[in-house]
Amino acid sequence: MPELPEVETIARGIEPLVVNKTINNISVYYPKIIAGDAELFQKTFIRQKIVRVWRRAKLLIFDLAGSAHLVFHLKMTGKVWLPHRDVRPDKHTHVVFHLDDGESIFFQDMRKFGYCAFYSTKDLQLWNFFATLGPEPLEVSHDEFSRLFSSRKGRIKALLLDQKIIAGVGNIYADESLFMAGIHPETPGNRLSARELGLLYHNLKEVLVQAIDAGGSSFRDYRNALGYSGRFQESFLVYGKKGECCPRCKTILQTCKVAGRTSCVCPACQRK
Ligand SMILES: [Zn+2]
Repeated sequence: MPELPEVETIARGIEPLVVNKTINNISVYYPKIIAGDAELFQKTFIRQKIVRVWRRAKLLIFDLAGSAHLVFHLKMTGKVWLPHRDVRPDKHTHVVFHLDDGESIFFQDMRKFGYCAFYSTKDLQLWNFFATLGPEPLEVSHDEFSRLFSSRKGRIKALLLDQKIIAGVGNIYADESLFMAGIHPETPGNRLSARELGLLYHNLKEVLVQAIDAGGSSFRDYRNALGYSGRFQESFLVYGKKGECCPRCKTILQTCKVAGRTSCVCPACQRK
């Protein structure tokens, strides 16, 4: 699933390509991918100018003039991108936004778990999912970050994945940051020392910034705004590396399950 760095990369890549362009028409091939009424969806955005593209948590958001917001959740395999003009919609292309300069934005999703939704500014703030998102890890202060976890009994990996506690972190960046901080994913939040919370805070930020700089991590389907892969998967320390040697101490990496997700850990560097 695209996480914070991947969606950030898409937003930064798309914004300069579409800002100040107007949506001339919308082709909806699979209306069920739209959360809400597909006809109203078209009415809301046709002849509207795009003024900003940004990210909140794992959501990709287009702001339109006239205070309408087009929101994508890419889930497992969703892609929002601008293909070359010769590219025709395939069976995984569910919505195409035709822009006034002849370019188009494709929303594709092989597994159809993703969706696009539309809100007025007021409704966006009232949307429960949006309103209950935790703070952004690249914006939260050290003190606030520590407070988020130090009073909770849940296992730290599960807490990191909980979008209501902190937004945008998924399996990859949780595993990488916990390894960097030397914390076992099953450690309860309220058992972490101030030092460990400090290490987690800095390492989570560091890995997210590095991943954004590398254009995100590509495996499975993630691609950026122009369809290119990211490079951060080449820098993974532990994620998906069960059976390989720990990059720090050479112990064989193992897995454990937390919150239904597989975690890759070094049993020597990340003690329970
Ligand atoms: Zn190790």
